[in-house]
Amino acid sequence: MGGENRGVDLGTRFVKVAEGKTKVVYDYDADHYLLYFKDTITAGDGARRDVIEGKGVINAQTSAFLFKLLESSGIETHYVGMYDERTMIVRKLRMVPVEVVLRNIATGSIVKRLPIREGERFDPPIIEFFLKDDARHDPLLNYSHMEYLGLFTRREAEQVEEVMRRVNDALYNFLLSKGLILYDFKLEFGRLGDRLVIGDEITLDAMRVRENGTLRILDKDLYRKGADLETVRRSYEEFLRRITS
Ligand code: 5GP
Repeated sequence: MGGENRGVDLGTRFVKVAEGKTKVVYDYDADHYLLYFKDTITAGDGARRDVIEGKGVINAQTSAFLFKLLESSGIETHYVGMYDERTMIVRKLRMVPVEVVLRNIATGSIVKRLPIREGERFDPPIIEFFLKDDARHDPLLNYSHMEYLGLFTRREAEQVEEVMRRVNDALYNFLLSKGLILYDFKLEFGRLGDRLVIGDEITLDAMRVRENGTLRILDKDLYRKGADLETVRRSYEEFLRRITS
């Protein structure tokens, strides 16, 4: 059965509070949401959309595993545990609608924006902020924009950058030990009391990972570049298998 109907079951027991392109958020209890991972995959700000059977399970498991890895490095995330194989129990954050991207190696949108070469290594890594706004194609933000729009103060933005660097140190080295190179990744943050905590997901939908040596693509760029859905599914499955073994 397709992942889109699986949420119906949760919907009879819990109130749906938000639905995005690949996830649904339900109210679980006073302090927790349920984060349900759908089988959908999208690109081009939702312009292209497909269903990959089982992707929701793979992404929920991938995200849970990587959140636990970060927690073990002392980095706070919203992850609490699993409700079922494709649904995470997470702490209620007040999400900030900003995508924070860290880049180790040049690819994707930055290569179109700046006079740099594909594959160039950034040392130190480059960190960028984008407004979550499909209709405007997620515009790039600077500190003044974020301050003016009430997203992050400059001080908060600097704290977020520090967390991004710590996440990168943990993730980059872990993935390298699995024969994988972390090109870039995107995280989202939310407020819990006066703290900023990592929310959303860490999956191949939101990071770029290449095999060390061959530079074979494992991430959503496969889908963006038009690979068939079975190739994408097998790659997501291979990634989960490699990081958990
Ligand atoms: P780029 O800016 O090069 O398109 O993306 C940089 C990184 O952030 C990539 O790993 C990409 O997957 C991730 N990313 C950028 N925008 C989005 C988005 O709207 N959704 C998701 N899931 N990931 C994104």
